[in-house]
Amino acid sequence: MNKADTGSKTSFFIEREEKYGAHNYHPLPVVLSRGDGVFVWDVEGKQYFDFLSAYSSVNQGHCHPKIVAALFEQSTRLTLTSRAFHNDKLGEYEEMMCRLFGYDKLLPMNTGVEAVETAIKLARRWGYDKKGIPDGKAKIIVCEGNFHGRTINVISFSTDPDSNQRFGPYNTGYLIIPYNNTEALSNALKDEHVVGFLVEPVQGEAGVVIPDEGYLKTAYELCRKHNVLFIADEIQTGLGRTGTLLACDHEKIKPDVLILGKALSGGVLPVSAVLANDDVMLCIKPGEHGSTYGGNPLACAVAITAMKVLINERLIENAKLLGILLGNFLNDMKSKFSFITTVRGKGLFHAMVIKPVEKRNAWEFCLKLMKNGLLAKPTHSDIIRLAPPLVISEPQLKECMSIIEMTLNDF
Ligand code: PLP
Repeated sequence: MNKADTGSKTSFFIEREEKYGAHNYHPLPVVLSRGDGVFVWDVEGKQYFDFLSAYSSVNQGHCHPKIVAALFEQSTRLTLTSRAFHNDKLGEYEEMMCRLFGYDKLLPMNTGVEAVETAIKLARRWGYDKKGIPDGKAKIIVCEGNFHGRTINVISFSTDPDSNQRFGPYNTGYLIIPYNNTEALSNALKDEHVVGFLVEPVQGEAGVVIPDEGYLKTAYELCRKHNVLFIADEIQTGLGRTGTLLACDHEKIKPDVLILGKALSGGVLPVSAVLANDDVMLCIKPGEHGSTYGGNPLACAVAITAMKVLINERLIENAKLLGILLGNFLNDMKSKFSFITTVRGKGLFHAMVIKPVEKRNAWEFCLKLMKNGLLAKPTHSDIIRLAPPLVISEPQLKECMSIIEMTLNDF
């Protein structure tokens, strides 16, 4: 979109960011200043449906009044103590989460990638302490197309050149296998130094790539057989997004190590967590891992409320029901428009793949959606991810479908 297409306020904000901010993102040319539920408003006052939900962080909707109230209330009492002292919120949060997900212990962190790093450290330590792997030899199996964050360690096992090119030297200790391929997993597991298999139940950043039914269950059983930890990165897929509490619930498997983030705070603060049973979690001893902000009382109060909202407002059930509607609609669109090559998804986590032809690519399509009042993010040049907040109502979803259909017609 060129400058003439944007309002003057919008241009002002974008130009200032361009001038003073690092150029490590390529956002759509819209400047948001307010959010409420499924809606966001730009600085010109235009209203949009949010179909990205901050990469599934805002499952509970923008500025959910209960979550914001919890933030405010706790912020007037106590925000941060560090873990040098106890605080009166951490235990309450840990107990609620352990009971809800069925684990012995929780380790609190902040961003998603920190929780991934934590899970990797835990798995390695478990391998040394419990499996007797020689020190420094532990290996973790990961999948092609993965996205687990941006640290040097995590990009060391990324297969996306944008993520890792020219950032080396890279860390070692990872075996990369194709996603959705149990034979490759079975072969990799023959290496006796393997301690964990780190997997996204649905590959979100790769473009909502859904593995075959049974893949996760078979992978889990293979890990069991080889005494290897099944580590699920549910940072994007968890907390209702796919129509179940966890995406692993679709195959009725319980990961040995569960990684959560994003919607754990309803988009209010960076809050992430790793859950595991004592056999794994107690391998890390005092002083061996931590974070100044991890487990702070403000984050705990927010996360407790964000989880209550998710459960009490039946957002998971809503994602399941409305996900069927969205899936059916997208399949109808696929039969109507030949340039849509694939649609896929689960719950309110869908993607539409188009045949890009010159200017007719996913970016251009998202610009047109934006003009029509719906914000979605392209992934690669041909994939449009559709993931609204889980608070969306049926009439709102139907309105969004009309916007998408109108935009497709126009395209
Ligand atoms: N893991 C998955 C599956 C993700 O989708 C993301 C972010 O998109 C991350 C990890 C990293 O989370 P964060 O950006 O909070 O570090």
